[in-house]
Amino acid sequence: MGGTFDPIHLGHLVAAEQIRADLALDEVVFIPAGAPWQKAREVTPAEHRYLMTVLATAANPAFSVSRVEVDAPGPTYTVDTLRALRERLPDEDLFFITGADAILSILTWRDATECLELAEFVAATRPGHDLSDLEETGVREKVMAVDVPALAISSTDVRERIAAGRPVTYLIPREVEQYARKHGLYGTERQRLGIDQPR
Ligand code: NAP
Repeated sequence: MGGTFDPIHLGHLVAAEQIRADLALDEVVFIPAGAPWQKAREVTPAEHRYLMTVLATAANPAFSVSRVEVDAPGPTYTVDTLRALRERLPDEDLFFITGADAILSILTWRDATECLELAEFVAATRPGHDLSDLEETGVREKVMAVDVPALAISSTDVRERIAAGRPVTYLIPREVEQYARKHGLYGTERQRLGIDQPR
């Protein structure tokens, strides 16, 4: 399961578990993106996002977290990750799970056609979002869409809530919230400098 996970939230975890059960997958490997090259906004350092993902997934025996993109120097591309996985696991069925919104831009990804050949793509869709924009591209039939109502939660909303001092209880795991607060992630600049305390 690929994502920026900035931060990981319960929508990601519900999606992973639901898709694992629906497709009878042996395990789900979370792969926090290293340096997402298409991002306009500033992304939290990869090590923080990796550690929050470890905290969020530690209790589930079918979940693990990979450092492959976090440790890669420079920009990371899904095609490189999938090539490496395929080399390590030549005989396994591989699925690449991510958000439907992310998959909508797949044609702009490096070696998109090869990506779609290396793994079966699974799009976790948020309420109100679908893959119809891919209909005319020939990509739609190569992507499996799975509705995940819990994806009404979004990392953007979680970041905005923390910055505004609003609660994120029941949106992200408690350990992730504690980690984010301890390291001053997502607060305003004044909160980071210790001038204002989040309410
Ligand atoms: P993003 O732009 O941060 O997110 C796009 C949308 O997808 C957001 O609404 C996001 O919601 C959702 N999303 C992302 N990951 C998700 C997940 N695992 N489950 C459910 N929803 C998810 O997208 P991104 O995180 O950068 O990219 C997603 C994946 O695509 C990553 O693995 C990334 O490496 C890959 N990608 C590859 C390329 C390439 O060139 N190879 C380019 C772009 C993306 P939240 O914010 O709530 O997560």
